[in-house]
Amino acid sequence: MCGIVGFIGQEQAAPILLDGLAHLEYRGYDSAGVAVISAQGKLQVKKAVGRLKVLSEQIHGGADLEGCIGLGHTRWATHGAPNIINSHPHVSENGKFAVIHNGIIENYAALRDELKSKGFVFQSETDTEVIVHLLDMYYTGDLKAAVLHTAARLEGSYALGVLCADQPGTICAVKMASPLILGVGVGENFFASDVTALV
Ligand code: GLU
Repeated sequence: MCGIVGFIGQEQAAPILLDGLAHLEYRGYDSAGVAVISAQGKLQVKKAVGRLKVLSEQIHGGADLEGCIGLGHTRWATHGAPNIINSHPHVSENGKFAVIHNGIIENYAALRDELKSKGFVFQSETDTEVIVHLLDMYYTGDLKAAVLHTAARLEGSYALGVLCADQPGTICAVKMASPLILGVGVGENFFASDVTALV
């Protein structure tokens, strides 16, 4: 089982995300990744196969990724090999949406066929990638509506974290049958797949 962490607040997100993921390492994983939106609205994504330390070194403990909103993920592969392309966060073709996912989308094959027939191009072998394309398809400027519309199409288990480059002040999380907790603070909010990432 993998780990997910999300943060929005006044502090730099990447070091907080790496710290949260480090507290979830005990759950097991094969790769890790983070996504952060900069103050200029740029979505930055970094991933690494293997230990979290590899990712952390690659981004200098998070210092390379400027921004106060972000997602972190450690993956335990269920669909597709443990490699960079299959690791999370997954990003939509237009570079607007980033998604992290813990769980299994049971109806991903049917969704993938539907999305392919509509012209969406898949990069990974994961069940998760259908989610970014669904978000892209349903987004008309209201992120929450797109997330709820997308979630309504998913069967299986999921805890999801979603970012949209158009909405640098909003982070979304949604769950079904996978653990997800919220940490609601003053001027900052968190979510994670386990309380150990928040304490
Ligand atoms: N099913 C997804 C994948 O294989 C998520 C796995 C996980 O929970 O880490 O990429």
